[in-house]
Amino acid sequence: MEAVGPRPLCPGQALLAAHSNHVRMAQLSLVDAHAHLQEEVLEGHVPGVMARAAEAGVRWIVCNGTHENDWEQVAELARTYPGVVPCFGLHPWFVAERSPEWLDRLEEHLLAMPSGVGEIGLDRWHEPRDEAAQEIVFRQQMALACRLERPVVIHCLRAWGWLMDVLRDTGAPRSGMLLHAYGGPPDLIGPLASMDGYFSFAGDVLEERRKKKRASLQAVPLDRLLIETDAPAMMPPEAARPHVVRGADGEAWNEPANLPSILEGVAGLIGVTPERLAEITRENAQRLLGGIGCRPIGS
Ligand SMILES: [Zn+2]
Repeated sequence: MEAVGPRPLCPGQALLAAHSNHVRMAQLSLVDAHAHLQEEVLEGHVPGVMARAAEAGVRWIVCNGTHENDWEQVAELARTYPGVVPCFGLHPWFVAERSPEWLDRLEEHLLAMPSGVGEIGLDRWHEPRDEAAQEIVFRQQMALACRLERPVVIHCLRAWGWLMDVLRDTGAPRSGMLLHAYGGPPDLIGPLASMDGYFSFAGDVLEERRKKKRASLQAVPLDRLLIETDAPAMMPPEAARPHVVRGADGEAWNEPANLPSILEGVAGLIGVTPERLAEITRENAQRLLGGIGCRPIGS
């Protein structure tokens, strides 16, 4: 592969190099393992977001529902756009808003189309929170995923010991689980991987100060590694965000077209070429999400 070194270039050369880099990236067939295209801040921007993702070589975007009121939007996005891989779940931040029928409604959505269970999880950071309710809801969704044999997408914030205790009890679905934006310690990677765990990393791992996250990234077996944007959240550092969506309030938001920059940064951190990392993450996504099956973006 051609070296993408920091060699000084005159402006014309730089433009050409940027162009060839862009063309090269567009051929990579990347998988954004975690995003929320249904978020309100992206309203009206989705056609542009999808077009820019296609141009950047992003072929699949795993789109996670977070509460009952966005599941239908996730389903609609998956019906409208090839390459949107739908997941339906009740996120720990929204457990208090659930209706009495939430679990039946979740199962209906899961049965209506090939899909995963997510985003679900445990969280000891967000305020206010009801930890007992979080655990009940998480266990119910794990049981559903196991019964339907669907992969799960897990959010875990400051709750790793708690998560491990619950997982040892519930077990993991045979179809695998994704620890999204993995922020747990390196020594939990082995036990989680033995429960069919996969680990995805977002743009924040490119920040110098994220030493713990970087150590975890470097400890993940290559056959369990994925990358994600978590768009519109988790804006990558400035050097790794060629694209932003401007919300109505003028605020800048993340989008899946930033994935090639995350790919390049992560590849550098683990010492493989971006091309190789693209291949690895695509194969891993196929193994984890292949059962969901979905045509790529732009097909
Ligand atoms: Zn998320």
